[in-house]
Amino acid sequence: MTGTADEVPADIDPQDAFQLFSHELRLEILFALWDAPDYSLPFSEMQTAVGERDSGKFTYHLEKLTGHFVAEIDGQYVLQYAGHRVVDAIQSGVFHTSPTVEAVAAPGVCPTCGASPTFDYDDHLATVTCSSCGTKLIEYPFDPGGFQGRSLDAAIDAFDDRTKYKWRLASGGVCFVCAGRVAVSYAESPHELARHDRYNSFFAEDHPAVLHLTCRNCSFFSYVPVGVRLLDSPRVVGELAMRGVDTTDRFLWELPFVTDPDRLTVRSRDPWEVLVEATTPSGTLAVTLDDDAAVRAITTRPSEG
Ligand SMILES: [Zn+2]
Ligand SMILES: [Zn+2]
Repeated sequence: MTGTADEVPADIDPQDAFQLFSHELRLEILFALWDAPDYSLPFSEMQTAVGERDSGKFTYHLEKLTGHFVAEIDGQYVLQYAGHRVVDAIQSGVFHTSPTVEAVAAPGVCPTCGASPTFDYDDHLATVTCSSCGTKLIEYPFDPGGFQGRSLDAAIDAFDDRTKYKWRLASGGVCFVCAGRVAVSYAESPHELARHDRYNSFFAEDHPAVLHLTCRNCSFFSYVPVGVRLLDSPRVVGELAMRGVDTTDRFLWELPFVTDPDRLTVRSRDPWEVLVEATTPSGTLAVTLDDDAAVRAITTRPSEG
């Protein structure tokens, strides 16, 4: 493929694509194929699976999906990538469920006071808070699908893994929702966040700066702690591991360079330069991030005393 994404022709008008699913039989067809071995069925078995006796009506609706969401291959109807994505969007649960989890003990320890934090979930937002010192450590949306087939403990682990992955990917410029280009810039949190009401109180509102992520292709936007960029730098992750901090072994809310505003120093705003300090058993790692939120320099300082 050459040229820019703007030049890629769209096969279907995006709103027409959604309109296709205004008839429930079409979703039933996708779900029947999802349930079938190898995501494929012959015509008659698919008709039986969705329970539509009127062949004319069934054929009409199947044809609407064929080509983009379903392909006919050697007498079998096979779910295509676009069809999988429709099923997946529904199975994430965000369109039709909004479960609630009352505060339960979360693993790990609060980096501020050492107490056990709690996890709760409401309105698609997962929150890890330390009630001992009153710190909201991490908060981020999590799809209801994350609780399916998992114990609550396993779901909390999954929330940690998934949030790390999402923050790393998006702050590196790749949208995890649509694969589009994410613009990454610094924002002085209280000023920027006042315009949005996604959070009652944003967990990083006391940080001197956060990263503002905006997808150029879809509606994804986010504000994430600047320190998350350290997790995406093999050099930093390696230096931390050598000094006794294995970041793969810590929950996001156990990393002070992610949660603690005092580990962040804004050195310059035009262009931006931010210093993030990570403490380890054998000293402090001072990481300088440049205007593109990339690691520019790493310096080390031995422990005091
Ligand atoms: Zn605490
Ligand atoms: Zn996107």
